[in-house]
Amino acid sequence: MFEDLIKEMERMNGQSVSVEIESDEKGYIDKQCPNEDCEFIFKVNEDDWANIFKDEAVWCPLCRHEAPSDQWFTIEQVEHAQAEALAVIQGQIHNSLRSGAQKFNRRQPKNSFISMSMKVTGGHKRTHTIPAKAAELMQLEIQCESCESRFTVIGSAYFCPACGHNSVTRTFRDSLRKIRAKKDSVDVVKEALIESVGKDEAELTCRSLIETCISDGVVAFQKYCEGMYEGYGKAPFNAFQRLDQASELWNDAIQKGFDSWLTEAEINLLGILYQKRHLLAHNEGIVDAKYIQKSGDGTYKEGQRVVISAKDVENLVSSLEKLAAGIEMECSNA
Ligand SMILES: [Zn+2]
Ligand SMILES: [Zn+2]
Repeated sequence: MFEDLIKEMERMNGQSVSVEIESDEKGYIDKQCPNEDCEFIFKVNEDDWANIFKDEAVWCPLCRHEAPSDQWFTIEQVEHAQAEALAVIQGQIHNSLRSGAQKFNRRQPKNSFISMSMKVTGGHKRTHTIPAKAAELMQLEIQCESCESRFTVIGSAYFCPACGHNSVTRTFRDSLRKIRAKKDSVDVVKEALIESVGKDEAELTCRSLIETCISDGVVAFQKYCEGMYEGYGKAPFNAFQRLDQASELWNDAIQKGFDSWLTEAEINLLGILYQKRHLLAHNEGIVDAKYIQKSGDGTYKEGQRVVISAKDVENLVSSLEKLAAGIEMECSNA
């Protein structure tokens, strides 16, 4: 009665169950970074995955972890495949038990003293797999400027998954977007914090949140300049952290300084914000004589603490945006 099952078990030994993975409506398939600290989920264009991506190496758009192309299934896809394999094997065992039982029942002699019958409940079970569904569409569609592969992410990405290329311009744009998002969410964060930890903590946290926007912007622009400047030689260490020096370096390289893209008032304001960042980083925000002399900011006396407003953050971001756009245009014309 178990002959069919035994035969089936022998056939199943070493069998592989293949489970299809569906693409989403735009033709993208889900991937997940195998680095356990990251597990970033993104999508790659199905055609590009076949034609541009290499078997030997795929890079995580967020952490640049590198691994062969067969390591990038999402946890959900793997769990689905395991569940499907189990369903197929259970189906095969069930079906062979059922056919075994049918044969057993057929074999019973009609006129025997005791009649026995076997019944395996449930009908014929499926032995095929159901494809893994694609996760919902992702907002940010990116095409690599180096290898032209297409991928989508939620939030932001630094590296192309097909070639590992880090786009200086895209990274900069993403950083500015993040700074604006941080500034815009301060009020919501404050409300939530007042509820949970009280007014004092909320005030402190949100003030430092706004203050970090200034240093985020300065660092993002420094990285941007360093990346864009690569073709023009080697800039001194941290030179792009200082506005005057950065402007001079660009003037030497492309014959345009920051006054080509910003008004005098904008440059002065940007200079003040750069000096405020310096105070926050090195003097806990307390105004000293050097600040007043270097920034030309007459609104503070020595010993006061600088204030950073949401408007300051917006001014910084929009000036840096203008500078970057100008530099980008000159560099692409060169
Ligand atoms: Zn990663
Ligand atoms: Zn690429």
